[in-house]
Order: sequence, then C-alpha cells, then structure tokens
Amino acid sequence: MAAAVLAAAGAVRRRAVDRLVLLGELGLDGSVRGIRGVLPAVLAAARAGHDQVVVPAANAAEAALVDRVQVLALDNLTQLVAHLEGTTPLVPYERGALPAEPPVPDLGDVVGQTAGRRAVEVAAAGGHHLYLAGPPGAGKTMLAERLPGLLPPLDEEAALEVTAIHSIAGTLPPEAPLVTRPTFEAPHHSATMAALIGGGSGQIRPGALCRAHRGVLFLDEAPEFPRAVLDTLRQPLERGQVTIQRAAGAATFPCRAQLVLAANPCPCASAAGDSACTCSPLERRRYQSRLSGPLLDRVDLRVDLPPVTRAAWLDGLGAPESTAVVAERVARARAAAGERLAGTELRLNSEVPGRMLRERFVIPRASLSLAERALERGSLSVRGFDRVIRVAWTLSDLAGRTVPGPDQVAEALGMRLQRVAA
Ligand SMILES: [Zn+2]
Repeated sequence: MAAAVLAAAGAVRRRAVDRLVLLGELGLDGSVRGIRGVLPAVLAAARAGHDQVVVPAANAAEAALVDRVQVLALDNLTQLVAHLEGTTPLVPYERGALPAEPPVPDLGDVVGQTAGRRAVEVAAAGGHHLYLAGPPGAGKTMLAERLPGLLPPLDEEAALEVTAIHSIAGTLPPEAPLVTRPTFEAPHHSATMAALIGGGSGQIRPGALCRAHRGVLFLDEAPEFPRAVLDTLRQPLERGQVTIQRAAGAATFPCRAQLVLAANPCPCASAAGDSACTCSPLERRRYQSRLSGPLLDRVDLRVDLPPVTRAAWLDGLGAPESTAVVAERVARARAAAGERLAGTELRLNSEVPGRMLRERFVIPRASLSLAERALERGSLSVRGFDRVIRVAWTLSDLAGRTVPGPDQVAEALGMRLQRVAA
C-alpha cells in the first residue's frame, strides 16, 4: 500500500510498481517485517502470471520455494524506494541448498514392544488409523512419534501443500522453509476447537488437524478430549478437508491426516499397574467407552499394549529393527497396494470401501474361516469384518504375497482390541 501511495504521489514511477507483487508488514519506522502465509501468496501470484515478488528478508527463503518467480528481498521501505527509482536495484534472492531436515526419532529406540512396533509398521503401510491402548510407560507416545518416519517422504506437490499450511499457521521453522517429511502434531486434550481444527480472529489459522495434513495427528489420552471435539474430527478426516467458518469469511484447508489415538486403561492411569488402580470395573468401562462412536469407527487398527515388563524388555534387546529398515518394507507394501488399486482414485488399503473389498478384492473363503467364525459368533461386526480384511491386505502386501492367507487374516484379527466394542 505504501508503494501505491508513493506511486500515486509521484514519488516513484508508476510503471515500476505496476506488475510488482509486494508482501510484508510495514512498521512505523519504515522497516518491513516478515508475515505469515508468504508461500501460498507467492504461489497465487505465480498462478496469476506474475514473475516477480518483493518480500521481507525474513520470508525470502520461503518465497523462493516457488520456481517460476524472481524473489526480491528487503528490510525496509528505503530499499524499496531506491529500487523503484532505479538508483539501487534489489538483487534477486538466490535460493541456497535446502538445509537437511533434522533426523526423525528412530524405531530402533523402542525396545521390547513387539506388538506396538508391528502396529505402527502396519499403520504406515496401509494408511490405517491406529488406536493404542495401554498403561503409562508402555511406549504409546514413543511409538506414535515414530510413525511419520515410516511414511514415505512428501512428493513435491504435497510438500508445497503442507508448507503452505504451516506458513499460514505461522509454524514454519525459518531454517527449514520447505516441509518435506510428514509432520507430527500432538494437541493436548485441553486444546480448544480452534486450536485443533482451526479458527481465530482475523486471518483464519489452520489447527493441528490441518497442520498434520499428509502426516500424523496424535491424540494422547484420547478419552480426555471432549466428546464434541472428537466427533468434529470425523467428517474432515473422511473428506480430507475442512472448512472453517468465521464472521469474516470461510477458509478451506486440506487435512488428509493419519490418526493415532492413545488411551490409558482407566482414569487413574496408575503407572504401577492394576494392583494400585483404585478404579471400579464400571469406571474403567465408562472411561474406555468415551472413545466409542463415529470416530473410533474409522480406526482399523486397535492394539492393546502390555506394560513393558523386565522380561519383555530383555526379550527385545536383540537389536530392534531401525526406522530405515522398516520404512523400506513399508514403501514396498505401499507400492504393491498402489499397483493393485491402479485405475481407481485409491492408493492405500485403508481407503478401500467395504463393497469394493467384497466384490473386487476377494480373499479365498478358506483363508477367511477364522474371521467368518468371529462374525457368526457375534464377536465381530460386519464393519469390524471389513476392517479385518483391509488390515489383512496390508499384512499380505508387507509379506510380499499377492493375496492374504489364513495367517494374515489371523494376525489382522489379533490386531483388534478385545476390550473395545467392535
Ligand atoms: Zn484406575
């Protein structure tokens, strides 16, 4: 706006500002400060046919992520005037090599939690939402934090999408302007709806759900989240996008996130195990049932983590597999699923609708007998049956098989939490 005033007043040539896109916040002292949302703004400018943008120096690296645009960076208004007058033109910003991203937490650090390690591997391979139940200290958070490292790195388009969201949210680390790895967001259960989904006054900010786009949204102590908040998550997770309404307008953000829920067995969550727990069976049941409902209905994997005992700890000491090893298996399994789903819009087993599972990707009856018996006994619902089939396909892809056998169906059945209603 300052540039337009200067041009209108004849202080600088009008032609000079004609095609120029200027971003930044002007301080009263003439300094130009960094702003949020530079990347999406520059992307929009490029799409509108602009080939030059002027941004605050603090945002230069971020703006330079857009290839087709020349970036001019400055610190104050004086520099802009000198540039527009032609006395001291701004030098185009040269994008340096992107800094290496910090290393991700390694799965090799998780000792003695075989079932949990397997669960995050399967979740990563099939894109399944995951529910980890277990006492404090069982490693629920450690496991959840290691899920993003098992997911494939973001492709260029996804990286720009995720970076744009973090740019608007104001959570982009200045030293790593491009987000290339799936992110991990872990909002606290006391977080407001705005913090979780998005909102705020003035410019609408995306919440944790959107910042976890193409990454992982971890809800620790999930039963402590207000029921209304959990229910609100369901539809955006299903659609992969969320629209936030505010008096000032509405904004739509993508939110294709993978959900990990974690819960303690009871409200007192005694670390010492059941002997010290003072909760009644009714209290325990009521606590766990807080999670049931439409959100949990979308969760394919429900795994019960035992407390890590000394024996289990020693048992697992034989050098657990590292993230690099498991991520490679995950990538192969994802490729196999992608090949099978070629010609559809789906890429992951978790996305395959129940009908398609039954009509198109048929598993031989002989392999299904265990699951069918569970269905007949009533210990598995029809929806639960579909979930078992989806997970069985992922296990089959991980094992390098073309179709799930009885072993994969049995393991998929085992990856269900018995305590929680199907
Ligand atoms: Zn208790």
